[in-house]
Amino acid sequence: MAVATGDAVRWVELSAEVMVAEREHLTKLDSAIGDADHGANMSRGFQAAAEKLSTAPPAEPAAVFKSVGMTLLSKVGGAGGPLYGSFFMKLAEPVGGIEELGPEQWAAALRAGVDGVRARGKADPGDKTMVDALLPALEALEAAVAEGASLRDALERSAAAAEQGARATVPLVARKGRASYLGERSAGHQDPGATSSHLLLKAAAEAWG
Ligand code: ADP
Ligand code: MG
Repeated sequence: MAVATGDAVRWVELSAEVMVAEREHLTKLDSAIGDADHGANMSRGFQAAAEKLSTAPPAEPAAVFKSVGMTLLSKVGGAGGPLYGSFFMKLAEPVGGIEELGPEQWAAALRAGVDGVRARGKADPGDKTMVDALLPALEALEAAVAEGASLRDALERSAAAAEQGARATVPLVARKGRASYLGERSAGHQDPGATSSHLLLKAAAEAWG
């Protein structure tokens, strides 16, 4: 199994469905430590991204990622829009011109995406952001690939690590983004962006597994 253009599109469509289904949950998480817009941002952004792909089908997976990145950058404000926009733009960079992504290529793409989020947002692990789900997911993916795991197994391990990482944000005190304004009061709540990152990687495992 490898990720072809249609699979990449399917991931985006599934992500849009999941963000709509989880909209209230993400809103609730963001109302506890933010401004209650993360559910709306994610569902609006991914629906727009999926719609654009259906009217202008791209030629390769990298073009799908880039299209999503551009839509998120132009349609979603706040911190989440630009961060996920960079994530998708960067996913495309190492895999331009490749028609089918195997586990190694997806790992290279995800590495670039996570580096892009970190370059843009300057968050370190433990700052209670999406990085706390994305980085463990990347590390689990790379470990799986190094062991020669199938794409399916590698994606499942990556999604499971993202879920654990998102859960592990609960006790943390936020050091980046809006939640950091709350200081110690941000502890005791799961980070919304780490949660949406888990949803995205879980959708990838479902779409490509
Ligand atoms: P906003 O905070 O502007 O309302 P969203 O609600 O869409 O934007 O997204 C909030 C999420 O963005 C947070 O839960 C956190 O995971 C993530 N985030 C915020 N700032 C940063 C940052 N500097 N680096 C990485 N992620 C961040
Ligand atoms: Mg918000």
